[in-house]
Amino acid sequence: MSDAEQPKNRRILVIDDNEAIHQDFRKILAGQAATSSLRELKAALLGAEPAQAEPIRYEIDAALQGQEGCQKVRAAVARGSPYGVAFVDMRMPPGWDGLETIEQIWREDPDVQVVICTAYSDYSWDDVVARFGQSDRLLLLKKPFDNAEVCQLACALTEKWYLARQARLQLQELEEMVQTRTAELQVSNRQLQDQIAERRSAEERLRHDAFHDALTGLPNRALFMDRLTHCTERRLRQPDRQFAVLFLDLDNFKVINDGLGHAAGDELLVKVAARLSASVRAVDSLARIGDDLTARLGGDEFVILLDDLQRPNDAVLVAERVQKHLSPPFSIGGHDIVISSSIGIALGGQPGKSADELLRDADTAMYRAKSAGKAQHALFDEAMHAAAMGRLKLENDLRRAIEQQHFVLEYQPILALDTRALRGFEALLRWRHAERGLIAPGEFIPVSEETGLIVPLGHWVLQEVCRQITGWNACRPSGRDLSVSVNISKRQMADPGFIDQVRAVLRESGADGGNLKFEITESVIMENPKSIIAILHQLQGLKIESHMDDFGTGQSSLGYLQEFPFDVLKIDRAFVQCMARSRKHAAIIQAIVNLAHNLNMKVVAEGIETDEQLAQLQALDCDYGQGFLLSPPLSADAASALLTALAEPCSTR
Ligand code: C2E
Ligand code: CA
Ligand code: CA
Repeated sequence: MSDAEQPKNRRILVIDDNEAIHQDFRKILAGQAATSSLRELKAALLGAEPAQAEPIRYEIDAALQGQEGCQKVRAAVARGSPYGVAFVDMRMPPGWDGLETIEQIWREDPDVQVVICTAYSDYSWDDVVARFGQSDRLLLLKKPFDNAEVCQLACALTEKWYLARQARLQLQELEEMVQTRTAELQVSNRQLQDQIAERRSAEERLRHDAFHDALTGLPNRALFMDRLTHCTERRLRQPDRQFAVLFLDLDNFKVINDGLGHAAGDELLVKVAARLSASVRAVDSLARIGDDLTARLGGDEFVILLDDLQRPNDAVLVAERVQKHLSPPFSIGGHDIVISSSIGIALGGQPGKSADELLRDADTAMYRAKSAGKAQHALFDEAMHAAAMGRLKLENDLRRAIEQQHFVLEYQPILALDTRALRGFEALLRWRHAERGLIAPGEFIPVSEETGLIVPLGHWVLQEVCRQITGWNACRPSGRDLSVSVNISKRQMADPGFIDQVRAVLRESGADGGNLKFEITESVIMENPKSIIAILHQLQGLKIESHMDDFGTGQSSLGYLQEFPFDVLKIDRAFVQCMARSRKHAAIIQAIVNLAHNLNMKVVAEGIETDEQLAQLQALDCDYGQGFLLSPPLSADAASALLTALAEPCSTR
């Protein structure tokens, strides 16, 4: 309560059984202002003018008996305007005496300052002390008293009461303030704690996200490499401690992703991750890599770090266990999906190998497992690395060679077996390598197929062949149907722009489609029969014949054959070469020739190396032949010369 809220008047209670005394007190104190040097001092200290302070008046109540006085004290406390001072007569028969009254008053309000009014003979201060002890709330006023005594007591005691009360109120106010501040501090402290906890969990989340794959929740490449680096460093100190890296790639994951959609693909990856985690000991760190950084390259690539192996061979056992765990079907969107995986294993055996090198080795081994037919594992060895490096170099050289057109074509004659007349050539590609001379296609065609480089390369072959055809035709008598067979790879057939490209080459070169034959292997046909049939029909529209190459090496059923508009079957040279030794092979060739003729197709036998083979094929009624016996592949010049020898002179190039 502030000063302004303090009751302006000081309340005084007079308890005396003599009403005249009440009147005396009223008279003595009426008109007295409750000012004091204390108040003035306070006003001066606080800078307020004491003259301006409203004068404080006494308000005087009276009671005839102790009981009545007590009731008044109680009521005053309840109203919030307590008495400051009570003048209590000592003798008030027949009620309580003064001491009893005081005791009861203080029960109601312990702050009341009491002046005991007593005759000299009645009580001594010792009696009072004996009852209440030394109390600063008590004064003794001996009757008969002087008016000035009453005034001084009233003034001093009400002021004392006022100041004590105010000090208490201020203390209370302070305590309340401290309490609310404490409560506020507690709240803001709690909020701070919450904020700290929140930030800490956000940081933890960030740290987790930085080191984990969002889709599967597995550790990511960064965390994996960290662990692997740790292993390679430890290896220098503890050479006996064995560890290994398993690089796992799902086989044909793309088929599932493309066929069932990416959501299904993701679901599969999550389930694979769970099975992988379960199949590897808890201490082995397991991570999926490539999702964020190189998503196109490796969304289905997982790596496993096997730490502290008993024996190196345990890595192979884990790889087998992992593959076994992945083999039961996965239920994805109502489909049962069976997948296999290829695993490359690199042992942390060699001290000094970096984490990157180990991961690369495991990747190389995985690649080896894939190219060996998938669904298997392969252990890395250094020869593999050399092969991988060699392949990488080949790939780079090949890219450059295509840019710089370091290729040539050779032409191997194809003859009619009955007359030995030249029917055409097969164009065979060679790479004119600066250091290695001519490189045979067996070495670079598979790489160019895998890398897609076969598409520009095949385009070049087609252009070159058409250019050659128009050159040869320009100086050949019309009507001599010479043709050149071109090998077309799987990637070219799958290229949506293939037919347009063929059309454009024909148009630009002025060559006639009737002079072109496309050789397509049986294995290409089986991979996507529907679209191949459509392409073959489009080729028919361009007058380009389709020849089925390497017939007998694929898995095509003979019955299937009639659905494809092929003009010629080329019997694979493996059959031709086994023919003399095995009657079975001769019988197969016989069957193929009969079947082809029944389906209105011609037959070419390739790889004829001996007279015996030639005679046998002739006897089997095979239409055409090709092989070293008849002629090796010829340079363009040599082929031109051959044509010249067969007809009138001609400059061909
Ligand atoms: P292919 O289509 O089976 O080609 C015939 C292969 O047999 C040629 O090998 C040829 O030189 C070889 N050859 C010919 N006569 C005989 C013989 O009497 N005995 C033996 N053992 N082999 C004989 P080359 O030139 O090394 O070609 C290998 C393969 O490379 C070809 O097999 C073909 O699949 C592919 N190829 C060649 N040129 C091209 C091309 O321009 N494009 C595409 N996509 N592939 C090509
Ligand atoms: Ca061929
Ligand atoms: Ca062939």
